[in-house]
Amino acid sequence: VTRLLVTTPERRRIMAAVPQAGTTPELLVRQVLSRLGLRYRLNVQGLPGRPDIANRRRLLAVFVHGCFWHRHEGCQLATTPKRNRQFWTKKFAANCVRDARNSAALRRRGYSVVVVWECETRKLLKLESRLRRLVQELG
Ligand SMILES: [Zn+2]
Repeated sequence: VTRLLVTTPERRRIMAAVPQAGTTPELLVRQVLSRLGLRYRLNVQGLPGRPDIANRRRLLAVFVHGCFWHRHEGCQLATTPKRNRQFWTKKFAANCVRDARNSAALRRRGYSVVVVWECETRKLLKLESRLRRLVQELG
């Protein structure tokens, strides 16, 4: 949880939109993976970055990322608030550094790291074929 020094309506609106564990995009990804027959565990402790979804046997770690918070490149959901730009820029940069570090640490352990973006969960058929290919590749 981020402690904020200043509260503006814009910030309040954005903070209120912070997805909580088990909210829609993550649930949708879980449903797709279940349909594909992948077994998984959630919020796996002891793995770098505590992946949202992971299968240790198949060395798969899945992060379901909000496009805004994790800066999905070129995505229209990855807006930058006009107020307090510096605050946001720093926060976003820290998130991206953390994401990169966690992915690298997982890959060093032999994991395939998959990021599913929030906006991808709005096109479920496309997402399902992407994840199906992925599960097949894992064997
Ligand atoms: Zn996106």
